[in-house]
Amino acid sequence: MDIKLQQVSYAYSMGTPFEKYALFDVDLTIPHGTYQAIIGHTGSGKSTILQHFNGLLKPSKGQVHIGDRLIVAGKKAKELKPIRQKVGIVFQFPEHQLFEETVLKDIMFGPMNFGVSEEVAEKRARDLIKLVGLPEETLEKSPFDLSGGQMRRVAIAGVLAMEPEVIVLDEPTAGLDPRGQREIMDMFYSLHKERHLTTILVTHSMEDAARYADSIAIMHEGKCVLSGTPREIFADSKTLEQYRLEPPHIVRFQAKIEQLMNQPLSR
Ligand code: ADP
Repeated sequence: MDIKLQQVSYAYSMGTPFEKYALFDVDLTIPHGTYQAIIGHTGSGKSTILQHFNGLLKPSKGQVHIGDRLIVAGKKAKELKPIRQKVGIVFQFPEHQLFEETVLKDIMFGPMNFGVSEEVAEKRARDLIKLVGLPEETLEKSPFDLSGGQMRRVAIAGVLAMEPEVIVLDEPTAGLDPRGQREIMDMFYSLHKERHLTTILVTHSMEDAARYADSIAIMHEGKCVLSGTPREIFADSKTLEQYRLEPPHIVRFQAKIEQLMNQPLSR
């Protein structure tokens, strides 16, 4: 399922005195199976663009294609249901959306709401709890008795239970310790490969963008100003400076070596 944004502009509070454009003529194509990172300074439009991937926001101008479905201004919520099923969004701090009495019910909620049988939904929950690295007994617990990191994993299992073809990750490791961050990111990467998903990662972490993504798009002041492979994007640290982005460790390291090599040897 390819994703294509064509000339997408978005204004908050359109037609009111508070109208504010957050996206301007964004063109972005994400072929099926791509791991796409979207990076950019705070306020550059990342969250706004992210909400266009499953119709939570509809473009004020332009078109969003999700496979053979089209999202344009005025599309009814009912028509967006099939898109919501195929595109799973893991929002920042997804654990805030847990609400059921047990972890099992929480993970089963999404699929059952979309007409999946109880039996199939339970089977998915039992498989997924292990996949996200938690013991099966967790299913019987209240989500509110878990640690923050465990709750995050349960919330992720809830998104995966919908068996999406596209996963959109909004800073999925925010607030986790470095080990938890790496585990979660590696888990998403394995899923991406094994299930041939399209993964879209919105992140502040240049390290994660460099490590996992096939393609990186830079957002700046509501525009998609640059896109390319990590090698192309990180080739010149001046590009990153221009968009107020911190280069990843590997680039800083290379720059340091080059700097040292260019220094005349002292006698
Ligand atoms: P990012 O995720 O990169 O930090 P956002 O997409 O949240 O950027 O924001 C892009 C621009 O839109 C910013 O100028 C922000 O202030 C503005 N914005 C975000 N949400 C709203 C909103 N609900 N109403 C009005 N303006 C908003």
